[in-house]
Amino acid sequence: MKIAFIGLGNMGAPMARNLAAAGHKVTGFDTAAPAPEGVTMAPSAADAAAGAEVVFTMLPNGQILRTVADELVPAMAAGAVLCDCSTVDVQSAREVAAQAEAAGLGALDAPVSGGVGGAAAGTLTFMVGGSDAAFATVRPLFEIMGQKAVHCGGPGAGQAAKICNNMILGVTMIATCEAFALADKLGLDRQRMFDVVSTSSGYSWSMNAYCPAPGVGPQSPADNGYKPGFAAELMLKDLRLSQQAAEGADADTPMGRLAADLYARFVEEEDGRGRDFSAMLPRFEGRGRS
Ligand code: NAD
Repeated sequence: MKIAFIGLGNMGAPMARNLAAAGHKVTGFDTAAPAPEGVTMAPSAADAAAGAEVVFTMLPNGQILRTVADELVPAMAAGAVLCDCSTVDVQSAREVAAQAEAAGLGALDAPVSGGVGGAAAGTLTFMVGGSDAAFATVRPLFEIMGQKAVHCGGPGAGQAAKICNNMILGVTMIATCEAFALADKLGLDRQRMFDVVSTSSGYSWSMNAYCPAPGVGPQSPADNGYKPGFAAELMLKDLRLSQQAAEGADADTPMGRLAADLYARFVEEEDGRGRDFSAMLPRFEGRGRS
């Protein structure tokens, strides 16, 4: 297939490289990043998109996505699909999809989980919103870049799934970290705490697969000095998107709001920036109740 890939940063570069390695003709554009292996660079996003059957975007936020979409949509061939894989607000995802569909294009929002490691290994999970036809067109490409693509519903449904999942993740990571800090103060050994909770009703992905306590459970960023992994500032971004969506939809999400506030403090006022989001544990460790 003829593919365009706009936004070749930490995630976009390995995704585009995997598409090219699978034999597709990939033309890329980025305002700063260099060409990934196998990708031909174009002088603009519009040039990259001209004649492409599928145009991927992997950009920092919804505002940039809207600006880039304004350039892409008029340049794309009728019937082509615009597939945004960035994590953006639900509103931007829906508006860009409506803009593309009004111009006779297909549109998907397809944010990912799996991080930079998953992008490099081709094992991402895609959460996809948009029409059946657009999903069917892009599905073989999702299968190259990822191990799973779930069609979640209409436009915006992929972003909705992503921010709901990550709201649960942020809340459970905080709960897991504060429980470890309480266990420490009660004199409970961390390994014993893990042995009980990971097989009891307090278990979660945060405890079982990504344990925030160094030397306990499977290998995780805690065992590597809390080097990300999934950086605290990216968790903060997703928690803010969940709160923005909750406000728009009038949903009551008190735990999500508290998680967003805590990660904001951690990243913006404490030492959380550049650390893995599980570094909430050393944060709680050093604190008392006040
Ligand atoms: P990044 O900052 O490394 O990459 C973004 C790229 O977009 C950069 O290379 C930048 O130069 C480029 N860009 C910015 N404005 C542009 C424009 N107008 N035209 C063309 N290119 C432009 O970010 P990333 O880590 O690759 O993340 C991309 C998206 O994926 C974000 O929405 C992020 O939330 C999401 N995401 C990231 C991860 C992760 O672990 N890094 C995991 C899941 C989802």
